[in-house]
Amino acid sequence: MYRYREVSAKLWRRLCAACYGHAVSGSKRALFIDWGGTLAFTRNNRTVVDAAGNPVLMDNVAATLKRERPRYDACFIVSNQARIAKGEISEAEVARRFAWANEELGRPFTEWRLCPHADADGCPCRKPRPGMFLELARLHDVDLRASTHVGDSEKDRDAAAAAGVGSFVWAADFFGWSTTPGRA
Ligand SMILES: [Zn+2]
Repeated sequence: MYRYREVSAKLWRRLCAACYGHAVSGSKRALFIDWGGTLAFTRNNRTVVDAAGNPVLMDNVAATLKRERPRYDACFIVSNQARIAKGEISEAEVARRFAWANEELGRPFTEWRLCPHADADGCPCRKPRPGMFLELARLHDVDLRASTHVGDSEKDRDAAAAAGVGSFVWAADFFGWSTTPGRA
């Protein structure tokens, strides 16, 4: 078990060499979706939870995924979770919330990835770096150019571009929000 702040950027690059060392040219179209501000409502960069401790999902998420998910072979959550590095939430709790959303939404997600690091850790998976996309593409035979990323921040957009994901769609457009509640 790594204590995140003690792992150097150099080591992270070596750990992720498998992601970077191979050209990715799979056959599946994938929908990559950000979490905070895209799937889940956030306030002060924290996921808002209800009385039961479960995430409050953004408007139109359920209906939009039900409509759009069949157009893709696979669907992944890709999420920066720097609050884990700061000790403000556990990785297990973040994973529990993703699993809860998966059940709540009728299991649209093939898998999910989170980056538990902060900027200072230099992790190759933290958006705007492409590590999470590249790893999932390699594991799931994804054609990144034929795939789409939905997100609410410039980090999301830049990570998708760095990974070679063919399309980026702002969450407000994808989910049809008349205002953009995910973008303060
Ligand atoms: Zn990371």
